[in-house]
Amino acid sequence: MARVEYTEPSSIEEVLGVLDQQGDDAKILAGGQSLLVLLRDGLIHPRVLVGLQGVPGLDQITANGELHVGAMATHTAVQTHPDVRARWALLAQAEAAVSAPQIRNRGTLVGNVAHAFPTADPPAALIALGAQVRLRSSVGERTLPIEEFFVGFMQTALEPTELVTEVLIPAQPAGALGAYLKYAMRPLDFSIVGVGARVVLAADGTCSEARIGLNGAGPIPARAHRAEAALWGRRLASDSDAIDTAAEAAASDSEPVGDIDGSAEYKRKMVRVFVRRALQQALAGAPAG
Ligand SMILES: Cc1cc2nc3c(=O)[nH]c(=O)nc-3n(C[C@H](O)[C@H](O)[C@H](O)COP(=O)(O)OP(=O)(O)OC[C@H]3O[C@@H](n4cnc5c(N)ncnc54)[C@H](O)[C@@H]3O)c2cc1C
Repeated sequence: MARVEYTEPSSIEEVLGVLDQQGDDAKILAGGQSLLVLLRDGLIHPRVLVGLQGVPGLDQITANGELHVGAMATHTAVQTHPDVRARWALLAQAEAAVSAPQIRNRGTLVGNVAHAFPTADPPAALIALGAQVRLRSSVGERTLPIEEFFVGFMQTALEPTELVTEVLIPAQPAGALGAYLKYAMRPLDFSIVGVGARVVLAADGTCSEARIGLNGAGPIPARAHRAEAALWGRRLASDSDAIDTAAEAAASDSEPVGDIDGSAEYKRKMVRVFVRRALQQALAGAPAG
């Protein structure tokens, strides 16, 4: 491995100062669960690693109306947080689906999002929950809907001088239902396909809101807009046609990449199967929030 300098600033301002000076030559180090693999395999060549461990408060998770997950909050901390389990259960499910406890104890939710791996678990759930990503640089702050944060295969809207400070998730409407389902060959594998589905039913049983996020359905985690539209206004409890139409729309809009786990056609079929199952599980009463 090439020689890499390591610095551990003690404030966000100091982190941003290093990013201003080093630009593309610097890489943020959170839990290291993805970054160190890229370094070991010689896929990236930063001059400086900027560790976030010394910045106080970045591991905070606060739930006051909306949920704020700080840049150093681990998957385990999110998955086991009582407010997350009670009010953003869909996220807790996706966090529980991330690999093994060792990875979840070190890896962070924000690092997972910043890494933008197309088959990572949390992004589909975050899309379904309407999450946003907060970015900060020395000149200001901006907040993006999570689906706009992902721009290409392992590429994000993050500028080299920006830090992701937190992921924000809005309060979920009362009675929101949801499920995250992961399809993988072996228990600790990345997903072949992952589906986060969240629906809200009006008092008369019709669907008043639907959001579906997909992992593994293309080069970036994606929102299944046409599938969502197929659900709106329908009485989903007794309307399996609407669910089939949504699953079909998600599959035909997806652009999976064929690889050792299966052909593109096979994965598209799995998108259809798992969108249908995630919606059925949600409608069976699984709370999203
Ligand atoms: C064996 C193994 C199995 C895994 N299985 C799964 C799985 O099944 N499902 C799944 O979802 N994930 C899986 N992962 C990935 C895991 O979830 C990682 O924790 C996560 O992808 C990265 O989080 P991290 O804190 O370790 O980030 P790091 O590795 O420290 O960083 C990852 C990338 O994000 C950037 N970054 C990190 N934080 C910030 C920030 N605040 N601002 C800007 N950029 C930032 C880094 O510069 C780097 O480019 C697996 C990892 C391993 C090693």
